[in-house]
Amino acid sequence: MEERPFNDISYEQFLNEEKLMGSRCKKCDTLSVPPRSICIKCYGSEMEWVEIKGKGKLAAFTCIAVGPPFMIEEGYDRKHPYCSGVVDLEEGLRIVARIEEVDTNKPENIKVGMPVTMKFLHRGKGENLHTFLAFKPS
Ligand SMILES: [Zn+2]
Repeated sequence: MEERPFNDISYEQFLNEEKLMGSRCKKCDTLSVPPRSICIKCYGSEMEWVEIKGKGKLAAFTCIAVGPPFMIEEGYDRKHPYCSGVVDLEEGLRIVARIEEVDTNKPENIKVGMPVTMKFLHRGKGENLHTFLAFKPS
């Protein structure tokens, strides 16, 4: 479908377009997100793009009170921690992303195993547009 190279630049372009895309090896069906030009399993180089639906379950999470500078700039601090999690996607792979729309001051209310859906967080504009992948409770 898409002729873009299987690399992080294409991955980020797709995120800007609100698509989560991975690469699938035509030889052994192994899926990679972010995409890779060489299969991590069989080292095959025949890849195809696959759109990931973005539904899954929260597998693990952590609430971070002291984040990197760009998170502090967004207003996250000790009083407003942000949540980072691991999501088991329906496609059978795991992805690390921000977890939004949860009460990080009450992490006991965030449940491992809860269904989550992806959302896209856009930062900046034009050439500086950068999109972060996040998940929220479904
Ligand atoms: Zn393969």
